[in-house]
Amino acid sequence: MTQKQRRIYRNVRALLERHTPLRVDCGVLCGRACCRGDAETGMLLFPGETTPFSVTEKNGRRLAVCGGRCRRSDRPLSCRLFPFVPLPGPDGKIRVVPDGRGFGVCPLVRHAEAAAFSHRFLHRVRRAGALLCRDGDCRAFLEAVRRETAQQEALRARFSKK
Ligand code: SF4
Ligand code: SF4
Repeated sequence: MTQKQRRIYRNVRALLERHTPLRVDCGVLCGRACCRGDAETGMLLFPGETTPFSVTEKNGRRLAVCGGRCRRSDRPLSCRLFPFVPLPGPDGKIRVVPDGRGFGVCPLVRHAEAAAFSHRFLHRVRRAGALLCRDGDCRAFLEAVRRETAQQEALRARFSKK
């Protein structure tokens, strides 16, 4: 991790330390479904991001595998952003979109039209994206996630028509 990434990650962690997708604890809705990952579905780590959890690799990406419990201050960046991810568009604007993993596990993503998301949280996720994009490796990482997200959306749209 570079000095610049260390500084950015510290700021992003602080930005999202106490803010959550809803004003209430959404974990009671689903039994904390997003914390029941395994070695295949751990949380994506950003470039150089360190974690106290074990780390596995999948498709060239590093994933943190936590066992379903953590100290809040130890959460990886992806956990703080979940169920969203801030993605830089080709126009340079940051768009907050559902994390691809959320479609399988998160009721807030599956029923987004009915969810009363915290505007403050969404605003902070967008600000986090802007901060992360100040680092070239993080921007490239998020651009790759954007391309994958677009492919997943295209697939979902294709199969939902059948
Ligand atoms: S799966 Fe979604 S609703 Fe459940 S705890 Fe995670 S973010 Fe909240
Ligand atoms: S690190 Fe914490 S917040 Fe993230 S998936 Fe594990 S238990 Fe959930």
